[in-house]
Amino acid sequence: MNRRNFINAATLSGFGIATGVVSCAPRPSVKSSYHTIPKLKLSLDRIVKETVGLRPFRASGPRIAKEEMGSKTIIHNYGHGGSGWSLSWGTGNMARQLVLATGERKIAVIGCGTVGLATARLLQEKGCEVTIYTKDVAPNITSSLATGTWSPASRVCDPKVAKPEFQQQWEEATRFSFRTFQFLLGMNDIAAWVDEYNVSSERPTGQTDISQGGESFHLAGLVAERQELAANQHPFKNKIVNWRSNMMFNIPSYLHHQMSTFVMLGGKIKIQEIKKLEDLDALPEKCIVNCMGLGAKAVFNDEELTPISGQLACLIPQPEVTYKLITKGANIIARKDGIYLGGNGLVGNWDTTPKREYTEKFVEVIQQLMNEMRS
Ligand SMILES: Cc1cc2nc3c(=O)[nH]c(=O)nc-3n(C[C@H](O)[C@H](O)[C@H](O)COP(=O)(O)OP(=O)(O)OC[C@H]3O[C@@H](n4cnc5c(N)ncnc54)[C@H](O)[C@@H]3O)c2cc1C
Repeated sequence: MNRRNFINAATLSGFGIATGVVSCAPRPSVKSSYHTIPKLKLSLDRIVKETVGLRPFRASGPRIAKEEMGSKTIIHNYGHGGSGWSLSWGTGNMARQLVLATGERKIAVIGCGTVGLATARLLQEKGCEVTIYTKDVAPNITSSLATGTWSPASRVCDPKVAKPEFQQQWEEATRFSFRTFQFLLGMNDIAAWVDEYNVSSERPTGQTDISQGGESFHLAGLVAERQELAANQHPFKNKIVNWRSNMMFNIPSYLHHQMSTFVMLGGKIKIQEIKKLEDLDALPEKCIVNCMGLGAKAVFNDEELTPISGQLACLIPQPEVTYKLITKGANIIARKDGIYLGGNGLVGNWDTTPKREYTEKFVEVIQQLMNEMRS
């Protein structure tokens, strides 16, 4: 199969069912009655926070690999783009397999984002003694600046650059993560199922542009497929509305849960910046897992790693608003800590200063949609 065929197959095939290895049966979408979608209270003075996070993007996909460096074994696990929350357990499991094969049991993990924490927890499950060394912890990390939905294919690679074998790796990671999340549901809502609506003027054509959040891969049989709602099933006038159930992550409580559990199981977290490779040499552990996200660029000289910035604006929560909504130019996700508006992605942008004009645009787009809703 050549690269183009591989990409088409990845996009179109429903690969999981074709290979018969789905980890659970597809759930039927059963919500066929009218969908009440509470309106957002939208105004700039309800915005309590604006942030810009830098997605750690690699065109060939996340780097999961072993590298020998002098007396140290480095296991890389970074570069997850817009899918690090979703894939954290899956690539963590791959990194764990590489670690366990070394025979080492005292392990250093560099980085305390969602990827480092998941990897560290998985290593603990196998009896490893883990110390996390990190420059920062939440909320001063990229993982704290994410939207927090199940989106394992979002900006995960550039399909024109990724090697064909990446699809297999992605599928394996996606399945492992999905299954792990099922056991986090119900624990103080750190992960939850929500209604997700895609509202548009035209039928979606399968956007794959990475700056637009394009998802080039699709794995059938995990979350339910999107269903187009009939006009009398939703409140949007003259719009095409697709609905599905999707998972979301309440990021602050999730990260707190991960850190607390890690420490409860004997893990140590040390604040320490790794500025150069010699700093790794000085660590007592022989086996080091690199979960530094974008921070890996400078230390490991990874020219492929580049930021895709994403701005979010956080509105005061409304208890009745519990859904995710995606439309052209903006999306919203209701979390416990706030209702997040966002949707942009600037490739190669390192500037983390929020721009008011982006927030105003998100508000304008969503406000227009709310105005067009039947009451
Ligand atoms: C706006 C936005 C929306 C997103 N939405 C989603 C979503 O809905 N779903 C999803 O799955 N993903 C989403 N993502 C992507 C996701 O947030 C990232 O892929 C993920 O956070 C990467 O996690 P990480 O642990 O690799 O990196 P980070 O969270 O950046 O953690 C890296 C860690 O390494 C440490 N570190 C870095 N450099 C050094 C150094 N030199 N020395 C020591 N420590 C160092 C940092 O302090 C930090 O602790 C989104 C991202 C953004 C910006």
